Amino acid sequence: MSRLEALRLRAERMGLWARWTPLVTPEADKRRFLAWLDAGAHAGMDWLVRTADTRVAPRTRFGWAKSALVLAAPYAYPELERPRGGVRLGRVARYAWSPDYHRALAAALDELAAFARGLGVEAKGYVDFGPLLEWSLARQAGIGWQGKNTLILVEGFGSYLHLAVLLTSLEAPEPAPAPARCGRCTACVRACPTAAIGALGVDARRCISYWTIEHRGDWPAWVYDLTGDWLFGCDDCQTSCPWNRFAKGYWNRFAPDPELAYPDLTLFFTLSGRAFARRFAHTAFARPGRAAMARNALAVIANLQAEEGIPLVKKAVHDQSSRVRKAAAEAAFRLGLRGVLDALTKDLDPGVAAWARARLEGAPLDDLGDALG
Ligand code: SF4
Ligand code: SF4
Repeated sequence: MSRLEALRLRAERMGLWARWTPLVTPEADKRRFLAWLDAGAHAGMDWLVRTADTRVAPRTRFGWAKSALVLAAPYAYPELERPRGGVRLGRVARYAWSPDYHRALAAALDELAAFARGLGVEAKGYVDFGPLLEWSLARQAGIGWQGKNTLILVEGFGSYLHLAVLLTSLEAPEPAPAPARCGRCTACVRACPTAAIGALGVDARRCISYWTIEHRGDWPAWVYDLTGDWLFGCDDCQTSCPWNRFAKGYWNRFAPDPELAYPDLTLFFTLSGRAFARRFAHTAFARPGRAAMARNALAVIANLQAEEGIPLVKKAVHDQSSRVRKAAAEAAFRLGLRGVLDALTKDLDPGVAAWARARLEGAPLDDLGDALG
């Protein structure tokens, strides 16, 4: 058996889908990625600009690497029962229902890299944060095609997948991309609540996943309208995709947890930053952190006009983070909580006080977002 085949089978025995591709970026993928960056569609994700050269030409940095074993781990979790008690509002993207997928996949990559070294092969694994275009490698390797929602879709399964890449010093055969099967379908484009999907792919400046996960700072006022009842991430361009009606099952190292699918929002307002970091260390919520999760929760409470969340809005007036107090001002405005807005006009942070005053004085939404966002 060849070393390529031995490595692929080893990954498949772990329960992963695995396919080889040479480590190259096709010209069309390069052009598309660079045009997306040039258009500013990466929003505040500046690390994508900083690593763009390596992403489009990975062998400039990984001179020793000739190939990539692309791995896909399914996460089509079944519906979970909402736990009792607490304030459980809003939706969490399905991928975040299990403790952090990075750790599980990084451990699998370490096992594979050790196995590769035993075969005399140099290898290094990446999950998400590597300077690689995973979607391009996955498409070339034949894991699946790239949908209009920019996700990789596997025929007969759909798009609920995490990708990981093992770079190796082996020569891989020519790429064998999977045929694109979107056809004339535009279901994800039409289902996107913010019209974020266009010719260049997903524009992060309009994407709920970007605002609720990647953007740590204040939100401009208009973003509160955008995010609806999404607490963390957004799955609307996946649930609308007809291929996902086949999606069932998940990798045996993932463990969906109802406390992550339906978190008690109270925790985002009562835990200290350190206690939050400890409690959610192994989850996707650690990426935005406590204050951003509290901000997201305030937006959900306001957008759902949820009375059970009002005590949390009142509690947020005394939050140690000015970002959370500013979000409390916006939520109070939307919920008609004049007393909360009054209190926040006296906030020691001038930005919070100005936001609350502007809302009390009825400043138009867009002006407020531009002025203070
Ligand atoms: S994640 Fe949500 S907001 Fe972003 S492109 Fe998909 S449907 Fe649109
Ligand atoms: S919804 Fe349609 S267009 Fe969008 S990814 Fe799925 S098949 Fe492709």
